[in-house]
Amino acid sequence: MNADEAAIQFRHGIETGRLAQGYVVEGALEGAAREAVEQLLAALFCTDSASPCGQCAGCRQARERTHPDLTWVEPEKKSRVISVSQMRAMQQRMLQTSFSGGWKACVLYAADRLNANSANAFLKLLEEPPANTLFLLLTDSPQALLPTIVSRCQRISISGESAALPAEWRERMLGILTESGGAGPITAMALANRTAVLLAAVKEQAAREVKAQAGAETVEEEDQTLSARIDARYKEKRKQIVRLMLAWYRDLLLAAFGMEAEALTHGDRAAEIQAKAAGLSPSTALENVRAIERMNRMLDRNVSESMALTMAFGAVR
Ligand SMILES: [Zn+2]
Repeated sequence: MNADEAAIQFRHGIETGRLAQGYVVEGALEGAAREAVEQLLAALFCTDSASPCGQCAGCRQARERTHPDLTWVEPEKKSRVISVSQMRAMQQRMLQTSFSGGWKACVLYAADRLNANSANAFLKLLEEPPANTLFLLLTDSPQALLPTIVSRCQRISISGESAALPAEWRERMLGILTESGGAGPITAMALANRTAVLLAAVKEQAAREVKAQAGAETVEEEDQTLSARIDARYKEKRKQIVRLMLAWYRDLLLAAFGMEAEALTHGDRAAEIQAKAAGLSPSTALENVRAIERMNRMLDRNVSESMALTMAFGAVR
């Protein structure tokens, strides 16, 4: 399911008093699964009747991870494991009375990084949980969790995309795509540069979000955990931009086959797409899609972005 579906199911559980003690939320750590966890927390802490409203103090504190009844545990920087001493500190907090008089929640970020000792300490807590407490185990490797932990939790598998691209980014990328096609080498490079500027803004935003949530002012050189998270979050967003490009060229292909506007992903741009497709043969339109797919594979293999983009914009007709 996607993050929204998970939040709906979860809200239903809160309303009917049928929440499980723990949830294993599996999926991309810096993508849709993390967003799902943030939505679940907002549903838990929201003080509005339309939960989660996204506006109230509860929702905001859940998003910013500053809610007094929320404990967020991440692997230690040096050892990269969630240690038994972290589990003991977490247990202390979970045994205290709730500040807001409601739920207390604990997120284990990268829960697969529990070692034997900390996993056993956590299992004991899960076997005799304090009242009104909820554990969310966020992981991209559920198979690495103790089966005895998993069996006490409900599993939520989060697939699909993270939250939609901000409209401003979508518009900028669509603007670049509108000018693409049949570009000479200089124009191809200019279009690649404009895309690179957009991607730089995306990366900045990813860094801001990760740092704010980690409570860090700057990323130290040796803080590999934080840099890795920024990189992972950036790549999730970049994937969405690549999907947007793919959808654009698939739209051109559909339009080249004479499909109507309703069949297009970017139906709001149907006029531009159909005008461009008018000058394309279906086989050329198919070659364009392949060029973007090639670019996608290059990016997955960590080929330089500017090279992958320049080649793609140079290849599409
Ligand atoms: Zn709210």
